[in-house]
Amino acid sequence: MARLVMKFGGTSVADIARIRNVAQHVKREVDAGHEVAVVVSAMSGTTNQLVAWARETAPLHDAREYDAIVATGEQVTVGLLAIELQRIGIPARSWLGWQIPIRTDNAHGAARIQDINGDELIRRFGEGQVAVIAGFQGLGPDNRITTLGRGGSDTSAVAIAAAIKADRCDIYTDVDGVYTTDPRIVAKARKLDKISYEEMLEMASLGAKVLQTRSVELAMVYRVRLQVRSSFDAPDAPQGTGAGDIVGTLVCDEEEIVEQQVVSGIAYSKDEAKITLVKVEDRPGVAAKVFGPLADNSINVDMIIQNVSDDGKSTDMTFTVPQAELARAEDVIRKAQAEIGAKEIKTDTNVVKVSIIGIGMRSHAGVAKTMFQTLAAKGINILAITTSEIKVSVLIEAEYTELAVRALHTAYGLDGE
Ligand code: ASP
Ligand code: MG
Repeated sequence: MARLVMKFGGTSVADIARIRNVAQHVKREVDAGHEVAVVVSAMSGTTNQLVAWARETAPLHDAREYDAIVATGEQVTVGLLAIELQRIGIPARSWLGWQIPIRTDNAHGAARIQDINGDELIRRFGEGQVAVIAGFQGLGPDNRITTLGRGGSDTSAVAIAAAIKADRCDIYTDVDGVYTTDPRIVAKARKLDKISYEEMLEMASLGAKVLQTRSVELAMVYRVRLQVRSSFDAPDAPQGTGAGDIVGTLVCDEEEIVEQQVVSGIAYSKDEAKITLVKVEDRPGVAAKVFGPLADNSINVDMIIQNVSDDGKSTDMTFTVPQAELARAEDVIRKAQAEIGAKEIKTDTNVVKVSIIGIGMRSHAGVAKTMFQTLAAKGINILAITTSEIKVSVLIEAEYTELAVRALHTAYGLDGE
């Protein structure tokens, strides 16, 4: 017997037929003797609609009321799933965030979970009851409803798994696992059987949208074994039901991964914008004057390059910010322009960041070299580079995205049949 958290996203509960399908997945695990907590999102499209209504009413609005509105989507799906489970003979009840409670901080709209009391859920498992829990929501210190940020029900599921010490947290979604890269652009992309927390964290924050980044961070901290699998598999398809049986991709500790590839995956993100400061003065304190005000305005700078000046007096400085923050970043820089001494400020949104990710990089030399040679062979110019222990990212012109990702996928031996 195992204790499982099963999380179903918006497309998996998009209508009543799909909710019945979800109930069959739950039934399979209950019949196998497991204790089950189910976490659900709102029906697909619902949260977008709720957000749109809030914004239409007033573009600038009270974040506490925003949360009161957008948390309702999940209230519908927990109720429906509980009814369907009862209909097919499985004892179940719904739980909203405040009823458990799932305690969060008071950052309305982007709250962080602080504490979950799992005692009552566990007691009821003992009576054979399935818990159907609303994802995405919690209770703030002000006793008002909070939400965790878009895509937050992944994080709810992992936090609940940690709180009730679940053997595994299964994230059911519309893809059957985590791929070496986006299968929509590389037909030879392969589904990974296992991926380490560290790699998944990079993949998620670099643009692979299977899991909310925060949920992977939590899983890593609390060592929650996480499986990404499809809710569109036939619920009664022959499969093992034990906690160790994996049909999708298991996100786990690197020790569990026996055959580690040097590069496990390739991610890309189109959400980048490049800012170049032409001819800034080359003297101490200039970088602080550029990046200080950006940081003070909570603008995330990612890649930075500064050229060596040829005359010893001035140089160009280039950096990237998320596209959504470009307008604000430009504004901040223009205000500081005189002080920085930049001749000109240029921006470019026609760029993409392509990254190779793999914990094997820690122990292998020459990994970045292969990346640069592969891109050179295709005539792709690199505009900026950043590296960390387990990833190398390059900024290139957007029109080369597919070419670059495909070539790198082949170069690192990731192509499937
Ligand atoms: N329903 C919420 C959203 O659309 C939470 C989630 O789906 O994870 O962002
Ligand atoms: Mg999601």
